[in-house]
Amino acid sequence: MGGEQNWVMVPTMSAKYPQHASGPVGKQIHHIYRDRLRQFTNNGQYKEQSLMAKLYDGRLSGQPHIKLSVWDAPDLTRPTFKEATSKDNEFRETKKGEAFGPSWSTHWFKVQFKLPYEWVYKPRVELHWDSHSEAMVWTDDGKPLQGLTGNGERTEWIVPKEFRDYDKEHTIYIEMACNGMFGNPTGGDTIQPPDPNRYFPLTEADLVSVNLDARALYYDFWIIGDGAREFPEDSWQEHQALQVCNEIMDCFIAGEGSNACIKECRNIAKKYVGDKVDSADVYKTEATSIVNAIGNCHIDTCWLWPWAETKRKIARSWSNQCDLLDRYPEHRFVASQAQQYKWLEELYPYAFDRVKAHIKKGGFQTIGGSWVEHDTNMPSGESLVRQFLYGQRFFESRFGERSRTFWLPDTFGYSTQLPQICRLAGMDRFFTQKLSWNNINNFPHTTFNWVALDGSQVICHMAPCETYTADANFGDVVRSVSRHKSMDQDATSLLPFGKGDGGGGPTFEQLEKLRRCRGISNTVGLLPSTKIPESVDEFFDRLEHRAATGDVEFVTWYGELYLELHRGCYTTQANNKRNNRKSEILLHDIEHLATLATIQGDSSYKYPKKDIDFMWENVLLCQFHDCLPGSAIEMCYRDSDEAYAKVFKTGHKLLKDALEALGFDDGAKGFKVASDVVLQTLGWKRGQVIKRQVTAASGPAVTVKQTGTDLFVLQNEQLKVELSQGAITSLYDLKAKREVLPKGGKANQLVVFDDKPLYWQAWDVEVFHLNSRKELKPSSSSKITEQSSHRVAISTSYKISEKSSITTTVSLSASSTDPNKPSLVETTADVDWHETMKFLKVEFPTTITNTEASYETQYGIIRRPTHYNTDWDMAKFEVVCHKWADLSEHGYGVSVLNDSKYGFATAGKMMRLSLLRAPKAPDAHADMGKHHIKWAVMPHAGPLDERTVRAGFEFNYPLRVHKHPEPARIEDLMSAFKLTPSSSPSLIVDTIKRGEDDEDVSNGDMPAKKGRHVIVRVYDSLGGLSRGTIMLGPVEVKRAWKCNLLEDELEEVKVGREGLEVELRAFEVASFKLLLA
Ligand SMILES: [Zn+2]
Repeated sequence: MGGEQNWVMVPTMSAKYPQHASGPVGKQIHHIYRDRLRQFTNNGQYKEQSLMAKLYDGRLSGQPHIKLSVWDAPDLTRPTFKEATSKDNEFRETKKGEAFGPSWSTHWFKVQFKLPYEWVYKPRVELHWDSHSEAMVWTDDGKPLQGLTGNGERTEWIVPKEFRDYDKEHTIYIEMACNGMFGNPTGGDTIQPPDPNRYFPLTEADLVSVNLDARALYYDFWIIGDGAREFPEDSWQEHQALQVCNEIMDCFIAGEGSNACIKECRNIAKKYVGDKVDSADVYKTEATSIVNAIGNCHIDTCWLWPWAETKRKIARSWSNQCDLLDRYPEHRFVASQAQQYKWLEELYPYAFDRVKAHIKKGGFQTIGGSWVEHDTNMPSGESLVRQFLYGQRFFESRFGERSRTFWLPDTFGYSTQLPQICRLAGMDRFFTQKLSWNNINNFPHTTFNWVALDGSQVICHMAPCETYTADANFGDVVRSVSRHKSMDQDATSLLPFGKGDGGGGPTFEQLEKLRRCRGISNTVGLLPSTKIPESVDEFFDRLEHRAATGDVEFVTWYGELYLELHRGCYTTQANNKRNNRKSEILLHDIEHLATLATIQGDSSYKYPKKDIDFMWENVLLCQFHDCLPGSAIEMCYRDSDEAYAKVFKTGHKLLKDALEALGFDDGAKGFKVASDVVLQTLGWKRGQVIKRQVTAASGPAVTVKQTGTDLFVLQNEQLKVELSQGAITSLYDLKAKREVLPKGGKANQLVVFDDKPLYWQAWDVEVFHLNSRKELKPSSSSKITEQSSHRVAISTSYKISEKSSITTTVSLSASSTDPNKPSLVETTADVDWHETMKFLKVEFPTTITNTEASYETQYGIIRRPTHYNTDWDMAKFEVVCHKWADLSEHGYGVSVLNDSKYGFATAGKMMRLSLLRAPKAPDAHADMGKHHIKWAVMPHAGPLDERTVRAGFEFNYPLRVHKHPEPARIEDLMSAFKLTPSSSPSLIVDTIKRGEDDEDVSNGDMPAKKGRHVIVRVYDSLGGLSRGTIMLGPVEVKRAWKCNLLEDELEEVKVGREGLEVELRAFEVASFKLLLA
């Protein structure tokens, strides 16, 4: 093209338009000019001729400029700065090219450098360090400055002004951790178990002088290039982007990449991104911005690395954010999980103070209000309460603020009572996005009101960019609109950006890209305008204001937000789940008894707040969304096993101390008269097991008979149970005169399924596993193993494979003296499990007809379909339950109770309790070994009601019997905080504890308050208006308030003569604070 200008003017015409074509001019072949753009910013064959060669105008490597020495920490230890830099440690010389390992080891580098004269005045000098692993830069006096990621990502540390002097040696330390952001997965497949023997080469340890114009042009070109690639071809903006990019390349070539032409190229870019992208001023326009970019950094508290590494990830990631906040005034960064702040406070006081200073300035923002970003499916109601109580109190005590937004982007489904619990914990907003992972149905809303079982609601927003680790690319901004499903109500959205899962958070690149995205919106439009809001609260405030003024009515979603994926997480890592259940129960009993002990016990007894906090904090930590669900590596379960061991050890001591303070004595002091007393820690009086007098006339209360080869009949006053080859072949209700099993049905049948999900082994069980059902057959004849007048039992052994076996013991006890109490057929199973990708379940076929089954959830019941009518119904082929599941029809039902399981399925009339899985990734040994599991089947006349709810508690809470010299007095004390007999039986008094800030209890985090308080938490368990009176026994109460979960008083309530009167709406959970006299 081109050629000389050789116009022939026509003198009679004024127009200067040439009469003759100067030569052919072709229409640009669009895709070729678009594909050309890659040449400018790729590291391929044209790199040396491209912008990439101009990003740095100087590089110093090795001696005499940089001197490297290293100390290898022994035995995979993670020493502190002080330990690492001890005089006793010998730092040996090293250089680029050396590799360090093995996986999880730590290496401390001493980096000594000197700048040559001409470098002192360079606009920007950076140390580029790439060990292909995570690392942390420290000052030589032990201040952690900044994290490094490796593998080309976040490898730069800006050499500060005070280090920029001529020929003077400066020293920093770099702590290298031999793991990547995602741990050390074998073969690079993220979820494969860690490779213990990875080595990491140090490929970059250079000082570089940065050409800031070239770097800025790089981001200009990147984002304008995205416009050329991603805007629709029928938009002028797409064509314009392509023209601008080609013009920049032509200019660069013409100017041979000189600094002057790079400046010229940037001027060309301004046609598209405007002239303000070099500062936060780009955001200061009148534009209506609908996309709200907010920095965040998802640090999985454990996942593909152990807790000890998480602690370092926090310091690395958050120090980086402090640095970015200093350099980018528009930056806003949110971080959740009080536990992570607490670790930082304990281990990195310098980094914590830096964070604290930025929190004060407003750039660094606490969010989430919970202790960790926990699983919401499996923790008990009280655990969810404590996640917020401990989380909010930590934030308040350290930073003087509570969170209003429950921030939980990455957990595997959301329990139906969360909106109520959030509201009661001071949070009226909820942010997540995980439902975009559904692999069957597309969740239909982005912004909506999420409604709990009791009708409480929170505004929920699910980021339409469908990630919480956005790279702040052009495409993320586009998706914030193109995948927004609530546009007819409100077009705004959150765009949570920042490297995550393994930590990291926003990078300067991402902030540069966001400025340019906004620049495009300001200048050429079409791209949705993106701003950085003051806070997440600002985003929600606007939504709330619109709703409050009637400007918009958000759609509603009632009930759970079921994740159509990761259903294996209700079962994987059985031991961990069992420990969760057992520790919740232990804590419940400790708090109840310790409270009583402070009211009427040994006067020297002190409520063990510190130890209770220690226990709760560990239990809450283990509820992290990759820990309790079973999706972490083996190292994490060693961590959690250790934590639970400490919890149980502490717990048993606390229980013993409380009992001693209450005067219980099991022989130690040798009281002359001491009677058995049942510890009454549940909301109703549990009967002591009364061993009924057996007379010749009455006969035994329960019998067992062998009626043939491997045929047995067990019978009490309520049930007749026939067993054949270990399975229940008939379950006959003698009172209701009804057979519970279908003809030919076998209850308690153990079945094994092939279990190979599409990818996420520990996480997923896929619907096709149901095609591979295989019944287990006993390996020998069943035997009578117990035959007393009160209990009979049959044991049966099964061989699952050459390696695995099970022994089950099915037992029937004498029926209760309370005619209203249904009998249970109990089973204990001792499993030795060594399978590969198999799923063990136990089945209960029934004769019950209903299109819905019921499952216990936190503070209530959730009903789910038993059919596969639609994809939405079928997606729930495996669901979560707590202590029980129930299938009832008019007049009759069957409940299945468990002591440590969470996975269940009801298909038609078949109920199945999930027992064990055998995934091999990310933990190659998940669930291998011995397991002790208990379940029970409880047929009941009439509907699902309090009998099942109470049976669930009694099956799980051990009946503790201890000796007391004054049984009447102690029973009187234990009658406090129970409901009167006339109270609605649906009411459950769930928790009794002391007030957090009572003078004699307070841990000093918050100002202590005068007086002694008891907190009573009660809920309606069945879903209807419930009234009742909580008796106080000998406990004298001066005043009482209804309070929230954070124990703020809401309204004063009357304490009547009988006790505290309560009235709760369906599935309400209410807390009361009683001031003791
Ligand atoms: Zn996560």
